[in-house]
Amino acid sequence: MKNDVILLNHGSGGRLTRQLIDEVFGARFSNPLLDARTDASIVDFNGADAVAFTTDSFVVQPRFFPGGDIGKLAVCGTVNDLAVSGAKPLALSAAFIIEEGFGTSELDRIVASMAAAASEAGVAIVTGDTKVVNSGMADGLFITTAGIGTIDNRYRDIGKAVAVRPGDMVIVNGTIGDHGMAILAARSDLSFKADIKSDCAPLAGLIGAILDSRGDAVTFMRDATRGGLGTVLCELAEMCRREITIDEHQLPVRQVVRSMCDMFGFDHMFIANEGKVVMTVRPDAADTVLDLMRKHPYGREAAIIGTVGDVASGKVTLKTSIGGKRIIAIPAGDQLPRIC
Ligand code: MG
Repeated sequence: MKNDVILLNHGSGGRLTRQLIDEVFGARFSNPLLDARTDASIVDFNGADAVAFTTDSFVVQPRFFPGGDIGKLAVCGTVNDLAVSGAKPLALSAAFIIEEGFGTSELDRIVASMAAAASEAGVAIVTGDTKVVNSGMADGLFITTAGIGTIDNRYRDIGKAVAVRPGDMVIVNGTIGDHGMAILAARSDLSFKADIKSDCAPLAGLIGAILDSRGDAVTFMRDATRGGLGTVLCELAEMCRREITIDEHQLPVRQVVRSMCDMFGFDHMFIANEGKVVMTVRPDAADTVLDLMRKHPYGREAAIIGTVGDVASGKVTLKTSIGGKRIIAIPAGDQLPRIC
């Protein structure tokens, strides 16, 4: 690897994260399931149905923020990785690394929040682990969750975008950048009162409703987390080797998120979400899927934001509000650390 030491930005979900995964973990662990780089791996058992399997660690700072906390995040993150893989989440594990001196009442609040999120998502937390490290050796609390889900064979390749065709529409279930800016607002000494909440939510219900009614028309799904909507779109364009055109005018972005991005020098396309799914859908089903999303509490501000084109460029083009066009690319660094 080019770097001698790990940098904070190796954890940002952008280009450096990908380099770390490719050059260290991928190089040593390489196998067909891991090499697909999907949200969850679809593991086959002899003669039995396939199971979707995924894991995620949570180190968010601060642990409590408007709209959620580290516990809710730890459940939703894993549930969503299963749901966007086309799986029905079934069971989770939860492992806790706790620093000596951590308050038991705070721990209990976090665990209660995990229980509530798991109950909403219809999953049970069926196994776990606890480790305590000396004071000063960890920043309070880190949580790792893993999850399994059952998967219908029809959806096993949905994360690989193999069925994406020119003409498919790109849909997102609501406003982008809310989680990242809520964390930044919770951290910063802002001179104004930023009215912004994380979108942290379990998406299994919303996605299940869409698959039940128009699963035949959904060609790709991914949750837009750390690297934001922009990273998912860039990866999608690369995977399906098509040009994806996004209409900036159609992008749902709250004004407070725009203002904060301007103020701090961020691009809302690459700001983290924790309750957003990006789908591509056959054109004849796009309106139906949009309606289904908008009927769900976690999809009220859903929008069709773009299309998959004929051009085999593998690039994402943004049609700007003022009529221009620009190619968007995953930024190398300087995203917010410890966002999830
Ligand atoms: Mg994911």
